[in-house]
Amino acid sequence: MKVSKFGGSSLANAQQFNKVKNIVLSDPSRQVIVVSALGKENNQDHKITDLLYLTHAHLTYGVSVDEIFEEIRQKHLGVHHELGLSFDLEGELTKIRSSLRKNMDIDELVSRGEYLSACLMASFLGFDFIDAKDVICIDYNGQVDLEKTYLKIREVFSQHPKIVIPGFYGVLPNGKIKVMSRGGSDITGSLVAAALDAEVYENWTDVSGILMADPRIVPSAKSIHKLTFAELREMAFMGASVLHEESIQPVKEKNIPLNIRNTNEPDHPGTMILSQIDEASNKAHFITGVTGRQDFTVLSVYKEHIAKAPSMIRDVLEILERFECPLEHLTMGIDSFTIVCATSNIKERLYDIISDIKKQCLPDKVIVEEDLALIAVVGRQMKETPGVSGRLFSAMGQHSINIRMIAQGTDEISIIVGISNQDFNKTIQVLYEKFIGQ
Ligand code: ASP
Repeated sequence: MKVSKFGGSSLANAQQFNKVKNIVLSDPSRQVIVVSALGKENNQDHKITDLLYLTHAHLTYGVSVDEIFEEIRQKHLGVHHELGLSFDLEGELTKIRSSLRKNMDIDELVSRGEYLSACLMASFLGFDFIDAKDVICIDYNGQVDLEKTYLKIREVFSQHPKIVIPGFYGVLPNGKIKVMSRGGSDITGSLVAAALDAEVYENWTDVSGILMADPRIVPSAKSIHKLTFAELREMAFMGASVLHEESIQPVKEKNIPLNIRNTNEPDHPGTMILSQIDEASNKAHFITGVTGRQDFTVLSVYKEHIAKAPSMIRDVLEILERFECPLEHLTMGIDSFTIVCATSNIKERLYDIISDIKKQCLPDKVIVEEDLALIAVVGRQMKETPGVSGRLFSAMGQHSINIRMIAQGTDEISIIVGISNQDFNKTIQVLYEKFIGQ
C-alpha cells in the first residue's frame, strides 16, 4: 500500500486534478491520498492558504471579506463544475462564509483550504473523505501525539481501504483545530505512511525529484536518483528545499522509502530517499549534490592557547544562546575559534553579542567578517574515496576562488567550504562541473 501526498501545484485547477486521478488510478496500491489546499495556477494567481490568511487579516482589521471570499469560492466552484462533481460544495462554502467573524480562530479558518480540496478530491476519485481532525492528534505544545494518531489512522484505514485526508491540520485535546507550520501537508503524509507501514511515501510536487544543484545556477542540473535521509538533511540544511523538514522523521523511523515525484511528468521516477543504500561504490559519480547558502557572518575569537581554556568556548556559546542566535558552524585553531551564524539571525544583536564576549571572556581580539557563503559538496560515497577534498580545492584554486573556511563532519558525507558571497554561483558551477559533469 502506498501513501501519496499531492501538493498545491498538483491541485491548482481541474486539469491538475485530472492528472492526479490518472496517477492514483494507474496503481491500485495508491490507496491513501493526502492533499494540500489548491495552489497557484500561474504567477498572478494566489494559493488558497494565502487567501485564507488574508481573509483572517481582513476580519481582524474590520475590512470587508466579500471580494476575497468570492475569489476562494469561485476557485473551488470552478474545479467542482469542470470535473462534474455532485457533492454539496455550495453548502460547505456557505457554512464557511457564515462562520466568518471578527476574532475567529485563525487555525480553523486556514485549515478550510485543505478541507475543501480533500472533499473535492475524495468525490472525484470515489474515495472516502476522512477529516484530519478525526485522526491527527496534536498536543498543546504543538507536537503530534504519535501513539494516538497512529492508532486512529489504523482504525480508520481498517474500515475505509481507499481514503483522502486533508493535510496541514489536526486537532488539539480540546477538540479545536490546529494547523501545522506552512507546508505541513508533507508532515501529514509522512505520519499517515508511518502509521500504516506503507510500502512507500510518495510526495508528488512540480519538480522531478531533488536536483543535484540549484537549476537557477546550473540550468542542466540532473535529478538525484537515490539518496539517503542523512544526505537529504545535509542538502536541505544547506539550501535545497523540497520537503518540510519535519516530514522526514516519521517515515525515516519506520524505514519507509520517500519518493519525490512530479505530477506533470508522472513517468519520471523522481528521487528515492532511503535509510540506507547498498551499492557498489561508483568512483566516477560519487557526489550526490552541490548546494549552498549565502549571507553568513563569521566571528573569530582570539586568545592565546585557547585549547587550554575550553570554558571560553562554552561561554561564547552561552552568549549566543542568551541572544537566541542559532549557530551554523564552529571551527577551532590553536589560538582562536570561529563561529558562523546566518547574518539574518545575528545582525540585530551583533554588537551586543560582541560586547558580552569582550566583557565575559576577555579575548585578545574579536574579528567580524560578513558576506560569507557556505557551499556543501554532499555524497555518501566520499567516505571511501580519498582525494575528494584535494580535487575540490584544486578546482577552486584553478578558478581563483578563495576559500575562507573549511569544515568536514566525521561522518564524511559532506565537505563544506566558506567563500565570499560574490563567488557563490561560480563555485557551485565549478564544483558541479568537476564532480558531476555535463
Ligand atoms: N496549504 C498549506 C501551505 O500553503 C500547507 C501545505 O500546502 O502543505 O503552507
